[in-house]
Amino acid sequence: MRIGIPKETARDETRVALVPNLIPLLRKELHEVFVEKAAGRAASYSDREYRDAGALIIDDAPTLYEQTEVVLKVHPPGPAEAQAMKEGSTYVVFLAPLSHPDVVAAFLRRRITGFSMEYIPRITRAQSMDALSSMATVSGYKAAVVAAEKMVKMFPLMMTAAGTIPPAIVLVLGAGVAGLQAIATARRLGAKVEAFDPRPAVKEQVKSLGATFLDMEVAENVETTGGYAREQSEDFLKKERDVIAKRLPSMDAIICTAQVFGKRAPVLLTAEMLQHLRPGTVIVDLATEQGGNCELTVPGTTIERNGVTLVGAVNLPATLPAHASQLYAKNVVNLLLHVYQKGSTVPDFTDEITKGCCITHNGAVVQEAVKSVLEQKGVVTT
Ligand code: NAD
Repeated sequence: MRIGIPKETARDETRVALVPNLIPLLRKELHEVFVEKAAGRAASYSDREYRDAGALIIDDAPTLYEQTEVVLKVHPPGPAEAQAMKEGSTYVVFLAPLSHPDVVAAFLRRRITGFSMEYIPRITRAQSMDALSSMATVSGYKAAVVAAEKMVKMFPLMMTAAGTIPPAIVLVLGAGVAGLQAIATARRLGAKVEAFDPRPAVKEQVKSLGATFLDMEVAENVETTGGYAREQSEDFLKKERDVIAKRLPSMDAIICTAQVFGKRAPVLLTAEMLQHLRPGTVIVDLATEQGGNCELTVPGTTIERNGVTLVGAVNLPATLPAHASQLYAKNVVNLLLHVYQKGSTVPDFTDEITKGCCITHNGAVVQEAVKSVLEQKGVVTT
């Protein structure tokens, strides 16, 4: 197949969907690779590296779209890209179909086979394709680094001739992939870490990283079969906020990562609760794009309230594009080689991975959960 890598057009996006060292793997499977000029530059990958790895460099996106039948991207196509998509081609991307019904409609019109990287099933067999986990790993790491950078204190214990400096205390809310990475990074930097997550299995993982699990009754039946947390009741969240509020005066930094797939993120820090924090405390909210775990979070902006710094973190993986692209590209290539294995050109919809993440095919929405929501919204009809 002829595989194309356009330059990302979304504002502040620095990642690229394929890195040079994966090109030989695709060529071994007899695929050809076309890369738009400067597509990898912001992520530190030069056109020369792509060319040396066996790709053909194409001057502009419309030509690239015209010459290829599979497009790999990070962000969904904008209107101009949607116009350029070739009828019947394949598109692999973080599609977020429920937030981009216009793109889904464009895929249907052009009979695009559209794969959404967010919908890779969370099963062991699909771990090597799990781009959400890859990006959460990068975000969790960066959140701890941002907290350390914005803080008025140092993270580690220091014993000096001028006295002893105690370690910073960091609270991590939500201990999924991003939260566990934030805990690990804050611990490596020398902080004492406390954490909470309603899924009971997480307690041991938190402890194994040398952090303390906040003591609170955890709800039963909190995990979906897909490995995600269910939405918690308002009663549970109120109890959780009470437990968190008691710990706030001791904190130097708080990293918020609590999310419920497809829903608004739970509010774990209200404006009133921030009054319990000491000036100089830093909050890094990773749940910003899902509404934020902190009531006052402003997406993409850092604000200050009574001496507390609140970072509304957006797209942290784009701040570390070399490694974020490396991980994302490997996930995408693994998916592509899985779906189109042994020279096949048609996806096998009896396969659990394909069925889970292929959203559109042949002019129809084929992913059941997405289809039912889009039908309710009137985007597609039965
Ligand atoms: P996520 O980004 O949807 O959510 C982040 C965390 O927020 C989760 O751990 C969730 O339990 C937590 N959370 C939800 N409500 C909360 C609340 N009220 N207070 C505090 N925390 C709250 O999830 P994720 O990090 O992408 O994944 C969650 C889990 O899924 C992983 O830790 C893992 O167990 C599982 N998983 C499995 C696979 C696999 O088997 N292939 C892959 C990835 C993840």
